[in-house]
Amino acid sequence: MSRNWRKDFPQLKPNHVYLDTAASSLKPQLVIDAVTDYYQNYSVNIHRGMYQSSLEATEKYEAARQVIADFIHADVTETIFTRGATSALNLVMYCVGRQFVKPGDEIVTSYLEHHSSLLPWQQLAREKGLNLKYIPLTKSGRITLANAKKVITDQTKIVALTYVSNVLGYVTPIKEIVEWAHSKSAIVICDAAQAVTHIPIDVKALDVDFLAFSGHKMLGPTGIGVCYGKKALLEQLEPFETGGDMNDHVGLYEAEWKDLPYKFEAGTMPIAEAIGLGEAVMYLQKVGLEQIDRHSHKLAKMAIAQLMEMADVILYNPKTEGGIIAFNLKGIPPHDAVTFYADQQIALRSGYHCAELVSRFFGINGCLRASFYLYNNKADVERFLEVTRATITYFRRKGF
Ligand code: PMP
Repeated sequence: MSRNWRKDFPQLKPNHVYLDTAASSLKPQLVIDAVTDYYQNYSVNIHRGMYQSSLEATEKYEAARQVIADFIHADVTETIFTRGATSALNLVMYCVGRQFVKPGDEIVTSYLEHHSSLLPWQQLAREKGLNLKYIPLTKSGRITLANAKKVITDQTKIVALTYVSNVLGYVTPIKEIVEWAHSKSAIVICDAAQAVTHIPIDVKALDVDFLAFSGHKMLGPTGIGVCYGKKALLEQLEPFETGGDMNDHVGLYEAEWKDLPYKFEAGTMPIAEAIGLGEAVMYLQKVGLEQIDRHSHKLAKMAIAQLMEMADVILYNPKTEGGIIAFNLKGIPPHDAVTFYADQQIALRSGYHCAELVSRFFGINGCLRASFYLYNNKADVERFLEVTRATITYFRRKGF
């Protein structure tokens, strides 16, 4: 990396190795400062007050929206703030499900989905009598265009896919699948929660219909995320939530909605969080997503090369494309192993990673996941490998 970005992250402590960015990233000081600044200096509601602090809050909230819209090449009217990727995907499910589907229609998804990109569609399929279908994965666990073509048919109304798997780090050929899905008149909903942290996203070039992501995985605060939707589709949809600030006029039996994006932002929004996310995106742009991706991938590859030498390690994604490694230690339950890492000050995740079908695909009961990001370094990789060897030795001595 061209500069030592580590010093921007106050939570990083010597001897503590953070390898759980895929769950949530650490936050740089300037994001923390932006959130604190809101609470200290202009902590009031937006869009309503005509006094100075309210105008300032509105201006900063809308400026953050502009930064985020530019970041994904969307229009501000198409950039809706939500509580996170989960809320964004549920919003799309409810709105699209209410208006665009009929019994017998097909929804196509994959085994690689995070539960927030899977359970909403299972729910919709059950409620509306839709046919839920899965794109078969390749042996190594990838989604391919060829396999997508086998499943997406003229009956398919919705295609819901992850852009980058949160367990395997594999990248879905989303642009090509969108093209195919559109040729069948299906709507494509893309879960970009893991992609947006590594891959520059241009929603117009991808031509995706909806795209969701969370702030807290991309150096921003918790409680904020984005739902991008194509304007023409959002305009047709009825709002997900109704309430304050999303209407222009309210009568006894009906109301008129505000224009986009406000139609989809009912009630008091997470203002500080949106402003913090705007700062996080500017920070990511300053570092450069390509540089972050190269760096995280280099560290993951360095670790994988050594893990492959260890007879007791089972790797599930030796060809990871980002900074994620999924693995197990032979005969050692991942939940047991992870506590040993934790005792050694290494933050890893174990279990299904909210994507249980991935474990089912590999016939395992969960796995360990190490994820690298811009603030990790070679020393972290070395410590991780050292503790991996120590974990194996410890559990073998215990008879595992
Ligand atoms: N999709 C993917 C691929 C994820 O990794 C996650 C978070 N683990 C989510 C969706 C859900 O994000 P959130 O919990 O922030 O709503």
